[in-house]
Order: sequence, then C-alpha cells, then structure tokens
Amino acid sequence: MNLAAVAHIPEPDYEEHFRQMIHNEVDKWVDELVCVFDENRQPTLMEMSELFARTKQRFLGDCLQRMIEEKYAGLLQQEYAPCHKCGKRCKKRFDSAKEMVTMQGSVAANRPWFYCTDCCFGFSPFDEVLEVSRKKHQFDIQKKSVNLAADVTFCRGSEIFEDLTGQSISDHFIHETFEAVGSEAHLEDVIPSKDEIAKRIKQASSGKWRPILVVASDGAYLPTRPKARRSDKRGKGQWQDAKGFRIYLLGKDRIIHVASWHQIQNEAEFGKDLAVAASRIRQDSVRIALLGDGADWLWKHMKDCFPKGRQILDYYHCAEHIYKVAKAHYGERSVQGLQWVEGTISRLFFSEVGNVIAGLGRMKAKNSDVQEEIRKLIVYLNNNIEKIHYRGDRIGGYPIGSGGIESAHKFIAHTRMKRSGAWWIKENGNEMLRIRCAIYNGTYDKVFNTYKSTHVHHY
Ligand SMILES: [Zn+2]
Repeated sequence: MNLAAVAHIPEPDYEEHFRQMIHNEVDKWVDELVCVFDENRQPTLMEMSELFARTKQRFLGDCLQRMIEEKYAGLLQQEYAPCHKCGKRCKKRFDSAKEMVTMQGSVAANRPWFYCTDCCFGFSPFDEVLEVSRKKHQFDIQKKSVNLAADVTFCRGSEIFEDLTGQSISDHFIHETFEAVGSEAHLEDVIPSKDEIAKRIKQASSGKWRPILVVASDGAYLPTRPKARRSDKRGKGQWQDAKGFRIYLLGKDRIIHVASWHQIQNEAEFGKDLAVAASRIRQDSVRIALLGDGADWLWKHMKDCFPKGRQILDYYHCAEHIYKVAKAHYGERSVQGLQWVEGTISRLFFSEVGNVIAGLGRMKAKNSDVQEEIRKLIVYLNNNIEKIHYRGDRIGGYPIGSGGIESAHKFIAHTRMKRSGAWWIKENGNEMLRIRCAIYNGTYDKVFNTYKSTHVHHY
C-alpha cells in the first residue's frame, strides 16, 4: 500500500460542514420570517420582536444540534472506550437516546453507552465531556431557574421563566432543582475565599488607614414547621431563630460587602460558622468593629473569633429599649417622654451610662409593669456598659448601628421567607437561606459548580 496516498485522504472538515449546515438552518428560519413582507400586513416592532421570540428557539436549537453533531462526531461514533474505574477497554453496548433542553432550545443525541463488566459500571463519555445533566432540562436552565426562585415563589418563577425565555419549566422542576442545589450549598463555598476577601479589603483601603471591617450578628425569627410526609397531618408550626452574621467593609465612600451567612441553627453551630469566616480574613489588615444587640450568645462568639474587635452595642437596638420605657412611663407620644428620650440618648452618646442608670433608679413608676420595664433597662445597660461609647466610635470612624445587618436580614431572610402562609421546614428554609446568601456574596457560581460536578449524568 502506498502510505503517502493514505496520508492524503483529507480529514472530514467539520468546521466547513458546520458552516454549510448553519446556512441551511438560516434559510429555514428566513422562511418563517418572510411572512412580514405580505403586502397586506404592517407589523409593529413588538409583533416583529415576538415573531423572532417564537421562532428563534427552534432555529437556535437546530443550530446547537448541528454544532454538537460536527464537533463531537467522534464521541457519537465511538465504538470502544476505556472504563473510568479500571481503564479496561469496553465495547459499546448500544446507542441511547437523550433529549436535552437548553436555554437555546432542544437537542437530541443518540450517544453510545458502555458498560464495564469487571466494575459493573455503565458510562457515557459523551455525557461526561459535555457535562450532560440527568434531568432533561440542562444545567444552564437549572442555574437560572434556581437563581430566580431565590426571589420569587416556585410557581411565579415558572411563569416568569416561560414568559421571558419561551422555555416551559414546571414549578415542581424548579422546586426539586432548588432543593438539590441547596443541599450541595455549603458554608465553604458560600463564604468568599481568602483571596477574594483580601481583594475586597484592598479595594476598601486607601492611604495609610486600614479600612474598618464590620462584623454584625443577630437573630431573626422565621416561621418553621416540622418535616412530615405529604400524607401526614402537618405538624404544628413554630418560630425559630435564624442566626446569622454579615461582614462588610467601610470603604472611602461606599460599603463593600464581604460575606453573609444565616441559618436556622443553634448557638454552637453559629459560632463554628463565624469561625470559618473569621479564618479567611487577615485580621491585621483591617480595624474590626463588632456590632450586635444585647444577646450574650452572639458576643461570646464574636469575641472568640475577632479578639481585637471593638465591641459596640447596636445603637438602634439600644434606643428601642429606651423608647419602650418612655412609652410605658410617660405614655405614647407625650412631649415629656420625647424630651426624656432625647436627653437619655445624648447622655449615652457621651458615654454617661452611669448617670443614665442613676436617673432610671430615681424614676417613680406609676405601677409594677412600668417598674419592670425600668428594671429591665437598668439590667440591659449595666450588662452592656463596656460597649457603649458612641462618641468615640464616631470620632474613630466606627459605625454605631448595624443598619447593615438589618437591611441584609430583610433582604436575605424576610422578603422571601416571611411571605404569608409560608411555613418552612427547617432543612428547606436553610437551603433557601444558603442560596440567597451565595447570590448576595457573589459565590453562586461556585455553589452551582459544586452541585453540577455531582450531578453529571453517569450511573
Ligand atoms: Zn472497569
């Protein structure tokens, strides 16, 4: 045999073939569009846009189909493949049909299926190279629909998705995928990496001053119910504490978010999670402000994780306690009460906590309920006396209130989770919180990739 002649047989030119195929597809699409040139019609811009929307899925789906057929012709015709586990050469068993729906429409493939008798293991190299999902709707759709469902109900998500993309996905599909992604969303992925946090600290730094890093913790009650089978009567609901923290930087003229994390969990779990976040922050590159209300559980862990942090009793929480006493003692909307509140808050601002406590001790309560409110405020101020130094905080550029965590909590927890009638099973509630935190922290890509790597189609 003449080897030179063999060498001259050209490889099939897949690119050129693809180009021709796409030209044909464009022709087919044009056939669907030319109806606008009918003399009797005068389509509006919106009508023309909708015509494109209606027809582009089929056109793009067919283009994608051609692309896969040309680019992966080798994989689709593969007769032998090495086993993943032992490397043994396995012969193709059969071709297996797979329908894959993507953002660009539907494609189908008849891909070869292999089975290693030594390992009792079936596999498809095509699925692995293309990262095909077990589900019909592929990862691109899964990623976008889960992102959407972090903000709207599954039902609404299904409607909006179809309206905007022309792709029909059921609320059940979104719900199921959401739970699958949520169960793979772990703290390690949801909190930004050490490098990423260092980058954000650098962004916030200017001149010789180290930027202030605020760590604000608190709890928010969420409506939960116990896990029960569908057939069982629903268990009694209860309000559980979602404990969380938000870490952010006070940049020169803006707040730079670092990390949010909220879970329905106990105090020890909260402490462990905060420690993970703390370990990713170079603490000597920032000045640290710790913010919280009077709850002991949160201070214990914030002090452990950020021993050099400046402890600041949240001004707004503190003011709320003072208003409460004013209301009880002077009545609602009394001028005298308002003056008392202003005077008391000014004293606290100038660190005259001792004077405020002494003044409270002198107040003559009109009944035992009021007496009790006054007593509670005295205890509260005594417990937190070391953390009240608002004037000094202001001078040093530290924040005095965790407006940040309040709005983050509203954003992360309340909006999606406190919808009327929404009682969360703890696990599902936590999945929702994890995904919402990941989106807010800028780590959703990472979280989704972790999920994807465990859900590529192989048995
Ligand atoms: Zn094998």
